[in-house]
Amino acid sequence: MDKATDFDIVIVGCGPTGATLANLLAQHEVSVLILEREQTIYNLPRAVHFDDETMRVFQSVGIADELEKRTRVNPGMRFVDESGNLLLDWPRPEGIGPHAWHTSYRLHQPDLEELLREQLARHEPCTVKLGHELVTLEQFVSHVNVGYKDVNTKEDFNCTAQYVVGCDGANSTVRSSVNTETEDLGFKERWLVVDVLLNADMPELGDHTIQYCSASQAMTYCRNPGLRRRWEMALPDSLSDERAIDDGHLWTLLSRWITPDQALIERKAIYTFRSELARQWRRGRLFIAGDAAHLTPPFMGQGMCAGIRDASNLAWKLSMSVNSKAKQSRQDAHFDSDSLLDSYEHERRPHVREYIKTAIKLGSLINSLDRQTVESIASGDSSSNVRMSSIAPRLGSSALSDFAGAESSVVGTLFSQPVLSNGTKLDDTVGYQAFSVTRTSSKSVLVEGGDGAVIEISDDDRNRLSQVLDEMQVQSIFVRPDRYILSAISDEQQITKLDWSALVN
Ligand SMILES: Cc1cc2nc3c(=O)[nH]c(=O)nc-3n(C[C@H](O)[C@H](O)[C@H](O)COP(=O)(O)OP(=O)(O)OC[C@H]3O[C@@H](n4cnc5c(N)ncnc54)[C@H](O)[C@@H]3O)c2cc1C
Repeated sequence: MDKATDFDIVIVGCGPTGATLANLLAQHEVSVLILEREQTIYNLPRAVHFDDETMRVFQSVGIADELEKRTRVNPGMRFVDESGNLLLDWPRPEGIGPHAWHTSYRLHQPDLEELLREQLARHEPCTVKLGHELVTLEQFVSHVNVGYKDVNTKEDFNCTAQYVVGCDGANSTVRSSVNTETEDLGFKERWLVVDVLLNADMPELGDHTIQYCSASQAMTYCRNPGLRRRWEMALPDSLSDERAIDDGHLWTLLSRWITPDQALIERKAIYTFRSELARQWRRGRLFIAGDAAHLTPPFMGQGMCAGIRDASNLAWKLSMSVNSKAKQSRQDAHFDSDSLLDSYEHERRPHVREYIKTAIKLGSLINSLDRQTVESIASGDSSSNVRMSSIAPRLGSSALSDFAGAESSVVGTLFSQPVLSNGTKLDDTVGYQAFSVTRTSSKSVLVEGGDGAVIEISDDDRNRLSQVLDEMQVQSIFVRPDRYILSAISDEQQITKLDWSALVN
């Protein structure tokens, strides 16, 4: 069949967001070109943490089991004052959580990016061009013209795509073409980040992440996988970059914990941590995702996680739009393609905003700017220590909120993932598609895929899912491919069969 465009989607940037998006799209037979300026994976210190929701997306991508082997379960984060007294505790449960994974993992970001790229290579509809940089974007009614060049030979190329997604990081070129302003949420600080490789394990350093709240020297310690450990330090304005990053200065700062004969400095960098949110994430056929759309201070370890959520949210919407155009349009469809694609920004922007706001709050607790925050939180508890727990905001409202049954409080939240009685996780049994869970009798449920096929599970598992429906006080739910609940029906009379193919025309 002749295709109207060379590729369905062009993704700019093969960082965690772009590589995850491409992997998800390729599973829906969407043809993808990824342009990545660099030849090798970025190797300065960045993400060291991700959560269970993010792991569930990696499960859909097909790399979760391999990734888990390269991670370490994180027992939690503790905030201490200059004398080492505990101010705030953010413990993470030791066991498997409601999403069938641990709630918090430590990682080495290049390990993840390597696995994502290996997985990409297994998908035929995906072309990855490393060492190729986006140069121009021209948007037309029916397609986008993409101009790019080989960064070594300087040779120019052109192709056409139905949609372009800018996963091209903080200094995004695609964001310029979306022509959006950026909302500054008010955090801007210069920090030094040092990754070390210990010569041998040093259990005395501890397994928790420690935030050293201090007026004179705010710091973070992270216990990363294997022999990797990280320290992050706020930099005073008076200290130059050159002096701050000097090994002699670093070892002086680290001397409280380790000495040069115990470890090697593996990587070091100075960053300005910022809190920014693009006001517009889509213009016609152009989208932005990941750091191109939002930046957060890293105190919650959620910047990359937010980009992975963007990819998971956008992938099924783009693939439905692309695939619905290839088919006859349905008169009985619930949404048009534009409303579905607009829902990406409407759902994701308020969601990530909650994470950025919380990270800023933690930042003001850690650094010297706002000691009052420490005091106000600490005084709220008679034991003088305060516990915090992870946040799980609902998706923002969008056209999808008008879907039948969307008024229930569980809609827009992530559906849990039980481990089934045969040891497999529910998402693996269902596959990367939408599904419904519907009560058929007082004790039993029927699970059906978006393709209409019944998904066979044991009686025990049916009972288990029946309890889940009970807990949510509903009779039936539709779960989207990103595992968020689209619709929940509490009145037995109103239960309808899931016809996923009629969602979009
Ligand atoms: C110190 C630090 C600690 C962090 N800790 C955590 C953490 O613990 N947990 C967490 O979730 N997040 C963390 N983050 C954030 C996380 O690293 C980023 O959010 C994540 O890397 C963003 O991924 P991305 O794919 O959106 O962008 P990037 O990883 O920046 O990828 C963008 C890609 O686009 C390419 N590109 C750019 N322009 C072009 C162009 N014109 N043409 C072709 N290619 C282009 C770039 O080369 C790059 O490879 C941390 C960040 C820092 C700095």
